[in-house]
Amino acid sequence: MLNNPNLFVLLGHPLHFSLSPIIYNYAFNYYKLDNVYIKFPIEPEYLSKLDISFFKKLNFQGGNITIPFKERMINYIDKIDEKAIQTSAINTFYKKDNLLHGDNTDVYGFSKSLENYKENLKSDILVLGTGGSAKAIITALNDLNVKNIYVVSREYEKAKQFVENRNIVFPKMNLYPIIYNDLENINLKNFSMIINTTPIGMYDDLYLLDEKIISKLEKYILVYDIIYHKKTKLLEFSEKNNLKILGGLDMLIYQCEGAFKLWTGKNLPINEIKDLVRNYF
Ligand code: NAP
Repeated sequence: MLNNPNLFVLLGHPLHFSLSPIIYNYAFNYYKLDNVYIKFPIEPEYLSKLDISFFKKLNFQGGNITIPFKERMINYIDKIDEKAIQTSAINTFYKKDNLLHGDNTDVYGFSKSLENYKENLKSDILVLGTGGSAKAIITALNDLNVKNIYVVSREYEKAKQFVENRNIVFPKMNLYPIIYNDLENINLKNFSMIINTTPIGMYDDLYLLDEKIISKLEKYILVYDIIYHKKTKLLEFSEKNNLKILGGLDMLIYQCEGAFKLWTGKNLPINEIKDLVRNYF
């Protein structure tokens, strides 16, 4: 039995779908560490009522931040590491010398998930969505030397603002704001990857790229949906059209690898974790 274990928490809302407790508790147990990882749901409207010192008072060593707090939690962190500054969002935090440190391991997780898809980084890339994960992905694509990225939003003004904001951080990247209707008018042959960062694939009956667009895509394109709970409609349909597909499970595991290293200095047992999470789908 654990005696007064070190606590690690997942902050966000909703959390019922999260695999993080399964992954981290397996890894803590693997190394026989006196650590426990638990979900700590916070209602979005409640976060703004919390004093900045609230998280420091709680007795935990570190944790993760997920939807919808990755950007807002920056206000509660004392020291923000480089990738989190570039991304303007944190997904991992830890206590050190009574200070809360924040980092963004989604950036590392996304880059590492593409290790076997380097050829798909050589041309233009289409990113659907302008949320926290899209920001982390732009940071990673900058590190991977991708030059041209089209960012698609439901609202042109939102895409434009996102692009202007990212261009301040990454002035050498060419970022283009578009809306979904524009996809009919751009040359899809120039793209080597489409990345869906929206949560739309979580709902069964919807997808953002209609069949007409997908059937126009060249076979060398990689269609990547970062949702990890299931094969989304977008991926199912792309696979039927003989396109390469990738789901979000590898990104999830590798971002956990980054966080686990920050907390424990140890390597996440990747192969065992991959076997473990396979049983959940
Ligand atoms: P978010 O900050 O809420 O952003 C998602 C973006 O998707 C929004 O900014 C919005 O962009 C678009 N969107 C939202 N609802 C939509 C709808 N009904 N129809 C079309 N577009 C919609 O969320 P996030 O943190 O980026 O996370 C997005 C998804 O990625 C979640 O499902 C999350 O679980 C998953 N995720 C996976 C990993 C992984 O490791 N695999 C890591 C992080 C996140 P516009 O308003 O500009 O259209």
